Amino acid sequence: MKKRIAILGSTGSIGINALKVISSLSDRFEVTALSAGSNIKALSDQARSFHPKVLCVRDSALAGRLKASAPSGTRILTGADGLDEIVSRGDVDIVIFAISGSSCAAPLICAIKKRKRIALANKESLVSAGAIVMPLAKKNNVSIIPVDSEHSAIFQCLEGKRPFLNKVYLTATGGPLLDIPKSRFDRYSRKFILNHPKWKMGGKISVDSATMMNKGLEVIEAKWLFDLEEERIDVLVHPEAAIHSMIELIDGTIFAQISLPDMRIPIQYAVTYPARFRTEVEFLNFSNIKNLSFRKPDTGKFPSLRLAREALKRGGTHPAVLNAADEEAVKSYLKGRMKFSRIPVLIERVLEHHKRAVKEPSIGDIIGAESWAREEMAKLCR
Ligand code: NDP
Ligand code: MG
Repeated sequence: MKKRIAILGSTGSIGINALKVISSLSDRFEVTALSAGSNIKALSDQARSFHPKVLCVRDSALAGRLKASAPSGTRILTGADGLDEIVSRGDVDIVIFAISGSSCAAPLICAIKKRKRIALANKESLVSAGAIVMPLAKKNNVSIIPVDSEHSAIFQCLEGKRPFLNKVYLTATGGPLLDIPKSRFDRYSRKFILNHPKWKMGGKISVDSATMMNKGLEVIEAKWLFDLEEERIDVLVHPEAAIHSMIELIDGTIFAQISLPDMRIPIQYAVTYPARFRTEVEFLNFSNIKNLSFRKPDTGKFPSLRLAREALKRGGTHPAVLNAADEEAVKSYLKGRMKFSRIPVLIERVLEHHKRAVKEPSIGDIIGAESWAREEMAKLCR
């Protein structure tokens, strides 16, 4: 029987790649449900190609337009309730979480309670609510398979070796500003910042890659996915993006996962795990690689990485505040309301102002801390 998949965020970069994977394995997978924020045209085009039973759009105001353009008979849902309904359906086996931002946490928690298999691209939900999500997944015996390329690499390298793990190396391309002096960051256009040298991604994660907050969020993501202390998660800048991450074992052996940078590989593995199938991606040819280089990240130039590590060490609501402040700062930057260099400065200020931190937060505490951080960032942006 085919596995039935729901993709939350199907019109984005990960969502589109996930649909390519499903097309290439159409004898094994079918689409039950798709969701988007507001891109009705792309969502209805996808519905015509993949015939899902259900579609969901963020705002109820868009439901009428979606109904008019989607194939007749498709059930139309809206908002957070719509996402909860999708992940609860009996005819959904696997949920791919490809919405950006921490609003993914609520449907993720719901999917875990319904014991769905989870392919997780969204990292913000683990950064803010990892302390709730991971114990819940354990209690319900639910596998969360990472889609983020670094975490997929570690997940693949770790199979059967977890008891022997010494530490992990998360690799980072360093983003578009790697070799540009900090004093010149603000001279570069948004178009330049959004044009990542190795990966084609959505706006939020592209800006996060340029500030290196993305790697900071990934350190926190790795902590939760692999149950690691912060000191055992090293970051290595590796601009060639051939090694997607590595693990070091207690005997000094290192395993790496290597391929051309193409998100279809980790997406496919997350839905086929533990099996592997042929992909349609281009394979790596080692003779085309002139050099593999590595260097330590420069946290003076990219303070976001330091901020994320500090938030992780302080724990409690700090990572949720970091994440929400970053989401708001990136939104402001993308709207042209904030200079690039202000992003980490203002995130640090929001973290400094977070005086009502909760050590062992409930989901309510996390939501409260996030909305406080969003308001605080809005005040600082005024
Ligand atoms: P995109 O911005 O390209 O896509 C986001 C998707 O989510 C779109 O379908 C968008 O709909 C939808 N969406 C956005 N906000 C909401 C919302 N509030 N409610 C419902 N739907 C919403 O992002 P990416 O695909 O690049 O990234 C998705 C997630 O995966 C992020 O968390 C990112 O960190 C992670 N990730 C991405 C990688 C990549 O290569 N792109 C690599 C590793 C991780 P619409 O099109 O209508 O706006
Ligand atoms: Mg990544």
